[in-house]
Amino acid sequence: DPQLNHAYVFDAFIEGDCNRVARRAGKTVAEKPGANSFNPLVIYGGVGLGKTHLAQAIGNDVKRLHPNKVVLYVSSEKFINQFQDHSRNNAINDFIHFYQLIDVLIIDDVQFFARAEKSQDAFFAIFNHLHQSGKQLILTSDKPPKDLDGLQERLLSRFRWGLSADLQIPDYETRIEILERKMKNDGLDMPKEVVKYVAYNINTNVRELEGALISLLAQSSLNKREIDLELAKKVLRNFVKTSSKEITIDAIQKMVCEYFDVPYDKLLQKTRKREIVQARQITMYLAKAFTKNSLKTIGEHFGGRDHTTVIHSCQTVKDLMDTDSLFRENVMELTQKVQLAAM
Ligand code: ADP
Ligand code: MG
Repeated sequence: DPQLNHAYVFDAFIEGDCNRVARRAGKTVAEKPGANSFNPLVIYGGVGLGKTHLAQAIGNDVKRLHPNKVVLYVSSEKFINQFQDHSRNNAINDFIHFYQLIDVLIIDDVQFFARAEKSQDAFFAIFNHLHQSGKQLILTSDKPPKDLDGLQERLLSRFRWGLSADLQIPDYETRIEILERKMKNDGLDMPKEVVKYVAYNINTNVRELEGALISLLAQSSLNKREIDLELAKKVLRNFVKTSSKEITIDAIQKMVCEYFDVPYDKLLQKTRKREIVQARQITMYLAKAFTKNSLKTIGEHFGGRDHTTVIHSCQTVKDLMDTDSLFRENVMELTQKVQLAAM
């Protein structure tokens, strides 16, 4: 099967809180393609968080468990290109017919369907046919379906028929596990303190984690020296420098305002409305976590508040994250957005 990468299997996809729902739903889908309530299965999340890996793991497992099923993995870009070729040759029916014969259709990165109206029409027809025939659809996207601008509402409403499950940034423990698995697969060894150091400092996504590991190996063999903490610090300094942008307080303010639909000037004023106060506190918390600005400077960006207000806000956010799960979810989602913007 040329489209499936055989390294992308479930066994190599480490489970953590960040991906548990998606991974388990994926397993169910692979066991009973088409005959489960996750149809379509929509896997969404930021870049480098494992969408392609998980989607392909499902495809690989279907092939293993159900050798007679026809599995097709295709990126939405390839789908669109194929469609346009067929369209030029007046062969749209052939195109649709081909796709209607598939048992498990995996379309990666459906956000690229945005504004490709004709391709969406074809996809809609294929989706309906497959779904009605009890065939399985698996889609990935960089955003939750509700935020997919430029996709037809009739498609989005079908995406909601099944399950949408997100992939988040793995926590520290999971990052360690991922690193250890990669090392084991590649027959590498490095001291635990180095693994911890890398896992602690690379907290953006799994692709970056792998990138750090590769740089570390390259430097180690180039300089003919063992991987130790000193080398890790040196390599990661370069790594972080080249791979991340500075994020500003203003940029974080803008993101939070957009996220909560709060006007920017309200964030700076002395408004005591609860939503505004919380949005302001979260913004301060994120500014503290993701910029190098002092508490004083952060306070100044909020209509001249002093540093004790910033400290208090950060503490309040931490406390609320422990007690209020919706609040926690909001902060986590915003954290992810800020991290992605800083890449
Ligand atoms: P996306 O498609 O979301 O951009 P990928 O599926 O390409 O991300 O994943 C990026 C890299 O990270 C791949 O090499 C993949 O194997 C690895 N990866 C992602 N999540 C995990 C995980 N939970 N366990 C192990 N490796 C992972
Ligand atoms: Mg991908």
